[in-house]
Amino acid sequence: MDLPESGRSAEDLLAELARLRGRDLPVRGGRVTAYVYDTGRPEVHEAAARAYLELLEVNMLDPTAFPSVVAMERQVVGAVADLLGGGHGIFTSGGTESIMLAVKAARDASPGRGTLVLPVTAHPAFHKAAHYLGLRVRQVPVDLETFRADPAAMAKAVDETTCLVVASAPAYPHGVVDPVAEIAALGVPCHVDACVGGWLLPWLREAGADVPAFDLTVPGVTSISCDLHKFGYAPKGASVVLFRDPAWRRRAYFASAAWPGYTLVNPTVQSARTAGPLAGAWATLQALGREGYRELGRATLEATRRLRAGLAAIPGLRVLGDPQSSLVAFASAEVDVFVLADEARKLGWLLQPQLSFAGIPKNLHVTVTGVTLAGVEAMLEAIAAATEAARRRGPAVPPEGLVELVAGLDLDALDDGQFAELAASAGADFDGEPEMAMVNAILDALPPRLREAVLVRFFSALYATG
Ligand SMILES: *Cc1c(COP(=O)(O)O)cnc(C)c1O
Repeated sequence: MDLPESGRSAEDLLAELARLRGRDLPVRGGRVTAYVYDTGRPEVHEAAARAYLELLEVNMLDPTAFPSVVAMERQVVGAVADLLGGGHGIFTSGGTESIMLAVKAARDASPGRGTLVLPVTAHPAFHKAAHYLGLRVRQVPVDLETFRADPAAMAKAVDETTCLVVASAPAYPHGVVDPVAEIAALGVPCHVDACVGGWLLPWLREAGADVPAFDLTVPGVTSISCDLHKFGYAPKGASVVLFRDPAWRRRAYFASAAWPGYTLVNPTVQSARTAGPLAGAWATLQALGREGYRELGRATLEATRRLRAGLAAIPGLRVLGDPQSSLVAFASAEVDVFVLADEARKLGWLLQPQLSFAGIPKNLHVTVTGVTLAGVEAMLEAIAAATEAARRRGPAVPPEGLVELVAGLDLDALDDGQFAELAASAGADFDGEPEMAMVNAILDALPPRLREAVLVRFFSALYATG
């Protein structure tokens, strides 16, 4: 950026932002089936945006200076606690931060115990928390028919070093709910990751879905995370972590008086932070109300049923497991799903690729939201057309020797420019229409540690400034 010599007007800047956003995927309308959550009610998102702006400049660092943040946080956390079996909570910036705090509290509650026991389907946020907090992870395979965690296998992985076991409700990859009660009964602290399901499953249950108990009402569950920026439909930056025991909430906090500056006490990872997301979440909950969420739950459940039935009717596709939520993953033994995703993208639909892992096949992931119902037939037509196109094109097969070449690369010897050239030769276009099937095929053929190394280089090259 050339920093302008003199300041520019807001209209000028907004026009430029609109131009910059020209190639962004739409955040409304339901054709982007990951990352964004649309109610289909613009007035709700408008109310949230106005509330967000209203509190934008308020700093949550000092609640004694801005008591509005305490009032709003008590209400938002209280609403989540009412829905999820009580507890004592913290408003955070997202699922990752909620999980980070739950893991920190568990670590500090059991000095000397440094291992997390996770099903392989648990979110990477737990690996990140372990990495940041100096803990180890023990990953446990899931049942390869149901994709649910295996409590017996988890019991075997638990030992005297375990400070936390994890169950997901649901796990993101396949939308299935782990056997929470059995995992929580293992006799060690148990976090339920309901980041995506916490504000979804109760409304699906009201709409008639068969949802097992998964929250703080289940004995042995010590903490639970629930994102409001997913199925709460709040603007990004909104999640809640709840602890059964108020002493555990205090263990999530950090305070320091070890300097001559202002006294610092942080309930979250961030210190100075805007109250915008809190106000946005508060406003979204109020703008929708119980009736709004109930109605969205009904529409989401109906859309999920139609999607699953429609996918089952497309030759070559198969839904993985029996999702109790509205997250649906499908695989294929006949067509390359990564090619299918590229073909769907050309038709204006984003389906999220998931790489094969621990015996689980590569697949595509769809998050069904409140707005999906209106377009579910169109989505199925696009998926059917993309499936046929992928069948005609055949699979993306990396050129002979390329995977071995990537696996043998000394990545540290390449700079970002050289890596970008290499990626371009594999089909990863940094500027044009993304054709990701070949990139995904190469990643899929690599072991996870190498996938991570390559992905880091990909982002580093993407953000390189020259
Ligand atoms: C989204 C998600 C997370 C991480 O949340 P962020 O808000 O992206 O940080 C953790 N667990 C599950 C199950 C999720 O779906």
